[in-house]
Amino acid sequence: MHELSIAMNIVEISTDYAIKNDSGKVLEIEIEIGELSGVVEEALDFAMESATKDTACEGASWKIVKIKARAKCKSTGRTYELDSLYSACPFCNEYGHDLIQGKELRVRSILVE
Ligand SMILES: [Zn+2]
Repeated sequence: MHELSIAMNIVEISTDYAIKNDSGKVLEIEIEIGELSGVVEEALDFAMESATKDTACEGASWKIVKIKARAKCKSTGRTYELDSLYSACPFCNEYGHDLIQGKELRVRSILVE
């Protein structure tokens, strides 16, 4: 994934939010990342450092919240946590499932001054 463009997008969303709330400064950003989103947390951290420079987000703190991947088995209908898209159902060992969560990439909350 391209963490820098993701970071720039997060900064843009946060800056828009600050403007809409008559604020020139973002204090805190909470970011949700699904474990199967392909986003590398360390890389995003690093990208955020540079993306926030000279913006309303400069000096803001951010928190990355990891979302565990969960799937629903197509055979048994049971839900379970999975480590990768290729994990088998722990109840019946089948591979067919629908992903319920784990690919999130979104700003959960923004705190402005
Ligand atoms: Zn199953």
